[in-house]
Amino acid sequence: MGKIQILNQNLANLIAAGEVVERPLNVVKELVENSIDAQATDIKVILKNSGLDELTVIDNGIGMDRSDATLCFSAHATSKLKDETMLFNIATLGFRGEALNSISSVSHVELSTYNGTESSKVVVANGEIIETQDAAARKGTSITVTKLFHNTPARLKYITNPYLELTKIVDFITKIALAYPEISFELKNDSNQIILTTGSGDIKRTISSLYSLELSKEVQTLNETGEFNITLHLAKPEFQRSSKNYITVFINNRVVNNSSIVKTVLNSYSPYMPKSRYPFCIVKISTDPQLIDVNIHPNKLEVKLSKQNEIQLTIQKLISEFLKNKEHIVNYKAPIQKSVEFEELNLDRDYLKKQPETFKYNQQVENTVIKDSDNIETHPTSKTSRIFNPIGQFAGTYIIAQDNDELILIDQHAANERVNYEKNKNLMTSQDIQTRELLVPITLTYNQSEAMQVKNVLNKLNELKIEISEFGINDFVVRSVPNWLQHNYEKECIELIIERALNNSSIEIVDILDEEIEMISCKQSIKANTKLSILEMESLIDELLNCENPYNCPHGRPVIVRFSKYEIEKLFKRVL
Ligand code: ADP
Ligand code: MG
Repeated sequence: MGKIQILNQNLANLIAAGEVVERPLNVVKELVENSIDAQATDIKVILKNSGLDELTVIDNGIGMDRSDATLCFSAHATSKLKDETMLFNIATLGFRGEALNSISSVSHVELSTYNGTESSKVVVANGEIIETQDAAARKGTSITVTKLFHNTPARLKYITNPYLELTKIVDFITKIALAYPEISFELKNDSNQIILTTGSGDIKRTISSLYSLELSKEVQTLNETGEFNITLHLAKPEFQRSSKNYITVFINNRVVNNSSIVKTVLNSYSPYMPKSRYPFCIVKISTDPQLIDVNIHPNKLEVKLSKQNEIQLTIQKLISEFLKNKEHIVNYKAPIQKSVEFEELNLDRDYLKKQPETFKYNQQVENTVIKDSDNIETHPTSKTSRIFNPIGQFAGTYIIAQDNDELILIDQHAANERVNYEKNKNLMTSQDIQTRELLVPITLTYNQSEAMQVKNVLNKLNELKIEISEFGINDFVVRSVPNWLQHNYEKECIELIIERALNNSSIEIVDILDEEIEMISCKQSIKANTKLSILEMESLIDELLNCENPYNCPHGRPVIVRFSKYEIEKLFKRVL
């Protein structure tokens, strides 16, 4: 007799549950997505101890009749997928019919539902229905989950920090609320209200409820329609954060992990932002469901997109144009009252502990101020219209200048770096790059596998006018180099360039060079603590203002800071 036996249903369900239900977040996500699929416009998530003690989701959706209210707990029970063809045309968030089955196999579940004619209450323990009866007739569905993971002690053991579980849930509800501004979401934990959105359909109001009024006023919306509709809600780089969490990607309103799109957003912002800082940007992509595959990940967190490259290019173009047309001078603001800094966006402990009163207050502010949110001004100023007249130098490092009613500070080293960076970049990428023959050719030796890769990038190097060719089996020789390569550093530079090209063969060599250019430009630039004459300041300012991006040094740090006359008068209490 063979050794194989078919698992009993309970055991099979328990194993299947492991794939979908790892932590309270997964339960919240599945239940909330069911509510959205049921066309709810109001969804409440109420937790006790981060959902570990009790977790309830209440919606005002279409509800279920009595037979569905019991059937929904069976394996593969779904109303959303009728035949194979529909699998490639999924318009709902759920479709596998396994969430309620999985959740009920690792917890106790109480379901109340009313579809307008029939009302039912169903209690399920350990995957078995133990009670079915009439319930109160309140339109929609309410599901309460208790004793989560009581029968899977290994899983329970690995959930050690309720705070972390709550953070993940807050993060999810924040994102789903951004995806569905027309649905009102409420999240409570131990009777503290953490999230409440109005469901007005207005993304700015949603952002205001979730983050801050200040940010919501800054957010702008960009659109590109086509086979894939792309909508971006984004803020200027000054609203920068220390975490990537404020870049959110939705595909057909599903919150997805798509690191390539996140990278595209970061790359587009990078000229205006230091490396460790991140922008606020919501990316919404919508398309015919046939063009995406959501069935590649058990939690549907990854989605395959056809035409991913075109989509990335469009996003890059939209963001770059948006940023290019803006003035990015840092504004000095007197810290008279603690302004609503972007820092508040952080999902830190304070945020989570935010008391209901604060929220009510925010709500009021929002209702009174955001009505005409679309008329918010942005002041895009053309960079060439500015004239900075230098007055002097501070600490041998900053140029003090005046522009009408504004006092301007310019970091002279950063400014010079920017000027040199753009000059060098033009030189390196121009059509006719000047070259010089090396008196002593450089030889480079690699091991066998590296040498194969180097052979692969020889063309790219030649395009850059680095005349490199094979020399023996694993050796290469460089006979001439472009003029922009620093004298005496040729070998190091070329080795660096090759190393990057090897690690990053898919990237255009121009991008690889960016860091090279930064390094060289930095070396060439005037240092801090160098005395400048007014004439020298004038010519530096002139060159700076002619740059494509005069606002940031090549590392993304600010070059210009401005103090408005009003801010200065405030400091002297001439105005209040
Ligand atoms: P799926 O969402 O993949 O269909 P689920 O196990 O999550 O599978 O749900 C099973 C079925 O139960 C759904 O297809 C739906 O018909 C019904 N259902 C679940 N939650 C709700 C709800 N909140 N309102 C109305 N119907 C629901
Ligand atoms: Mg579902």
